[in-house]
Amino acid sequence: MREYRFLAWLADLLDSKSKGDHKNEFHRHLKWLLEQGENRQPQIFCPYCGERLVSLFALYRDYREEKVFDFRHAYCRDCFRDKCHPSTIRGEAFLFSFFGRELNSWERPLAIDLFKEVFGLQGRFTRRKAFDFFADPDKQVPSSVILPATMH
Ligand SMILES: [Zn+2]
Repeated sequence: MREYRFLAWLADLLDSKSKGDHKNEFHRHLKWLLEQGENRQPQIFCPYCGERLVSLFALYRDYREEKVFDFRHAYCRDCFRDKCHPSTIRGEAFLFSFFGRELNSWERPLAIDLFKEVFGLQGRFTRRKAFDFFADPDKQVPSSVILPATMH
């Protein structure tokens, strides 16, 4: 997850260099891996209703009117609408492309902890674990419940 920005950058670079559909094996694998990170199903139930799997965390405005992510709470879609803080701007889905953003030094580890918890990834996230996780079709979001990336 710390390497996500590098991988996304590399994929873009290879995109810009490859003409048409001529992608080499590594390039195809990289694109596939990045796409897998966008369809993983969170594994924990919503702490508010206990009925649905979580799907969102909040971006809110803090007391200084700055935009801050709330990495301490995860909600299902319904509970997000009902229970999130009034200063919430929008919900963020658990997509691994989140790690492609500018995050500051204290945000990144909190975001990693939240994602690890939500996806049931205990301990160190090794390459082996990452591969098993991203390659497992059972951890894919069923297509019937794919959510939009943001909610307003
Ligand atoms: Zn809920």
